[in-house]
Amino acid sequence: MDRRTFVTASAGMLVGSWQSALFSRRQASKTRLILLGTGGGPRPRTNRIASSQVIIVNNTVYAVDCGDGVTRQFVAAGVPLGRLRHILITHHHSDHNADYGNLILGAWMVGLENRLDTWGPPPLEKITRAFFEMNAYDIDVRIADEGKPPLAPLVHPHEVATGGKVFEDEAIKVTAALVTHPLVKPALAYRFDTSDRSIVISGDTAPSDNLIQLAKGADVLVHEAMYLPAIDRLVARAPDATRLKQHILASHTAAEDAGRVAQAAGVKLLVLSHLVPADDPTITDEMWISAARTHFEGPVIVGRDLLEI
Ligand SMILES: [Zn+2]
Repeated sequence: MDRRTFVTASAGMLVGSWQSALFSRRQASKTRLILLGTGGGPRPRTNRIASSQVIIVNNTVYAVDCGDGVTRQFVAAGVPLGRLRHILITHHHSDHNADYGNLILGAWMVGLENRLDTWGPPPLEKITRAFFEMNAYDIDVRIADEGKPPLAPLVHPHEVATGGKVFEDEAIKVTAALVTHPLVKPALAYRFDTSDRSIVISGDTAPSDNLIQLAKGADVLVHEAMYLPAIDRLVARAPDATRLKQHILASHTAAEDAGRVAQAAGVKLLVLSHLVPADDPTITDEMWISAARTHFEGPVIVGRDLLEI
């Protein structure tokens, strides 16, 4: 590192600690939910990145899914990466896990020193090991050159293959349910209960009774949603349109049905996310909301990237 690089890096650390102090003051005791990525599907877009959310409780940061671009969205949302304590993956489609390893690497770059637990379906342990192996050269160089702590011992992957309690700490209880997302098995939804809030993230799923049970009485349900009248237009752009349409309809939930699930679960707020299509300008927020409100009497929010709820 030359002097100029050192000065720039030091300034970055100062900004980082200033952001961290500001972050702490904003926390109070309220549980925060920020949508980092609200687009469905792995196709890169300019308006919405792939699925990712962050939940913050008492300065502790929990990431849920790691779509492409999640690390940059952390910075854009003003959430200190170094505070990352848990990563939860709902399922291993690339629009939910593509930046899993890069998020860990990004956190380490800005000073992660605490233990980082990661949770998700098998083969999470193999994915974690393979990522460290793929990046061993860079990681080893930075340990030797920059004095960083070894990364692998900080990261503890846990495979979750069934519904039930995932973990509980002093601030939060996390519960999972198996949801329906063929051909991906298992696919999970997560519920987060804190002293002031309950939040459920559906992951990707067709309408799911397990999800209804998991979400009973929750304050917030973030549910994936597709806008059915636009699906034909969407698949028309794909090389294998018929097969893609079958996959979409069998493994995802129409906005109307997301409303049905929210109503059956009795949640207080429904947030539509993982939107399919994600970038069709002819579908307005009002159209998404009125579809969801066909069966749901409560308030509906259409997710957008960096929206705090
Ligand atoms: Zn998926």
